[in-house]
Amino acid sequence: MAKFVLIGSGLAGGLLAAYLGRRGYDVDLYERRADPREGNIVGGRSINLAISTRGIHALEQIGIAHEALQHAIPMRGRMIHDKSGALHFTPYDVDPKNCINSIGRAALNTTVIEAAQHYPNVHVHFNHKCTRIDLDDAAAHFETAGGVMTARGDAVIGVDGAFSAVRQSMQMQIGGFEYDESYLAHGYKELTIPPGPDGSWLMEKNALHIWPRKSFMMIALPNPDGSFTCTLFWEFEGSRSFATTKTDDDVLRFFDQEFPDAVPLMPTLLEDFGNNPTGSLVTIRCAPWFYRDKVCLVGDAAHAVVPFYGQGMNAAFEDCVVLDECLEKFPDNRERAFAEYFSRRKQNADALADLAIGNFIEMRDKTASKTFRAKKKLDHALEAALPGIYLPLYTMVTFTRIPYATAAKRARVQDALVYASVFVLAAISVAAIVWFLAR
Ligand SMILES: Cc1cc2nc3c(=O)[nH]c(=O)nc-3n(C[C@H](O)[C@H](O)[C@H](O)COP(=O)(O)OP(=O)(O)OC[C@H]3O[C@@H](n4cnc5c(N)ncnc54)[C@H](O)[C@@H]3O)c2cc1C
Repeated sequence: MAKFVLIGSGLAGGLLAAYLGRRGYDVDLYERRADPREGNIVGGRSINLAISTRGIHALEQIGIAHEALQHAIPMRGRMIHDKSGALHFTPYDVDPKNCINSIGRAALNTTVIEAAQHYPNVHVHFNHKCTRIDLDDAAAHFETAGGVMTARGDAVIGVDGAFSAVRQSMQMQIGGFEYDESYLAHGYKELTIPPGPDGSWLMEKNALHIWPRKSFMMIALPNPDGSFTCTLFWEFEGSRSFATTKTDDDVLRFFDQEFPDAVPLMPTLLEDFGNNPTGSLVTIRCAPWFYRDKVCLVGDAAHAVVPFYGQGMNAAFEDCVVLDECLEKFPDNRERAFAEYFSRRKQNADALADLAIGNFIEMRDKTASKTFRAKKKLDHALEAALPGIYLPLYTMVTFTRIPYATAAKRARVQDALVYASVFVLAAISVAAIVWFLAR
C-alpha cells in the first residue's frame, strides 16, 4: 500500500488521516505544535465553532459523530441583540430539528486525532514544523527540537491550514500556479462571558447570539461549561477601530455604547481585550490543488474562507470525504484521484468563499432590520409551502450536502422567481385598483 505523508494535524488533518488509515494506507502525520492532549491549546483559531450537516456527515462516515457531538450545543437560530438590549430570535430553518452545533475546537481536534490513531498504520508526530516540500520526490523537510529531518512518502498531503508550507512549496515549484489572497479590513478578537451560578448560561443557551452594528458586529457561541465565547469582528483601522482603542477607558466606552447588555456579563472584558490577540481574516484561492500523483492540498491549505457562514471546517471535512471517494474510484491511479478531487471541489470552494463574504454583510448589518426578519419569514413560508422545491440558501448551505456552487446558483434562480412573482402580483394589484377606480 502507498504511504502518505500528511502535514498538519488540525481538524482536517486528523480526520483525513483516519480516512486514509481506514483505507489501509500507511500514514505519517506531522504537526508543528505539541500534542493537544498535553494541555496545549490548539491556538490561533476560534475556541469553539459551528458544525452542521456536511461536517457531521464526514464524522458519521468514519463512525465518530456520536462521540464528537456528545458535548456539542445545538443552536436553533440567531438571537439578535439591539442596542437597547431588546432581543429578536429568528430560527435557522422551518424545521426546528435543523440546527447548527457549537463544538469545542480542542476536543474535536483530539477526537479526530484519536480516531486516526485507532489504525495501527497511522503514526502521528508532534513538534515537527514542515519547512518545505520537494514535490518531485514527495519529500517533506522538518525542523524539530532535535534538528532537521526529512520524511518521504508516495505522496504528501498539505492539511496545514491557511498559511500552508506545502502550498508555498507548490507556488515556488509549479510554473503557472495560481494564487490569490485577500484580507478583510476587519480583524477579530475573542472575549468571554463566564458561566453563571452553578454553571448556568447567562443568555439563551440554544442560539447563536449576534450584536449587529452595521460595519462591525460581535457574536457569541455557547460552551458546555455555561460560558459563551464572544468574537468581536471590527475594523483594524479607522476613527473607531482596534487601532484607536488603546486604553481601558476606550474599551469600556466602546462596549458601553455598542453592547450595553453584554458588558455586565463580561467581568474579564478588559483583561480579555488586552491579552487576546487580534486575528486577521483571509480568503485564499489557488489552483491546482495537486501536483502529479505526488502532492495534494486539503482544507484551509487549499481554500481558506472567512468564517461568516460557519463553513470553513465543514468544507474541509467534506474535502476529506470527496478525496476518500476519489481514491476509492481510482485505487491504482492517484493522479486521476487527485485531479477528480480537485475538479469536484474547486468551484464549490470558490462559491463558498463568495458566500462567506456575503454573509458577513448579512450578519453585521441586515440581521438587525425588520426587512431581514420578514424575508426569513417569507423564506420559511415558501419552504413549508413548496417542500423540496423551494430551499432557502442558508438551508441548502447548512442543512444539506448540495454542492456549494449548485446551492448558490439555485438560490439566485429562486430569488429571481420570487422577486418576479412579487412584481407581477404588485402589478396585478395596481391594475385592479386602477380598473376599479376607473369604473
Ligand atoms: C474566528 C474563526 C471562526 C471560525 N468558525 C468556524 C465555524 O463556526 N465553523 C466552521 O466550519 N469553520 C469555522 N472556521 C474555519 C475553520 O477554523 C477552518 O476552516 C478549519 O480549522 C480548517 O481546518 P484545517 O485542518 O484545514 O486547518 P487548521 O485547523 O488551521 O489546521 C492546520 C494544522 O496544521 C498545522 N500546521 C500549520 N503549518 C504547519 C507546518 N509548517 N508544519 C506542520 N504543521 C503545520 C497547524 O498547527 C494546525 O494544527 C473559523 C475560523 C476562524 C478564524
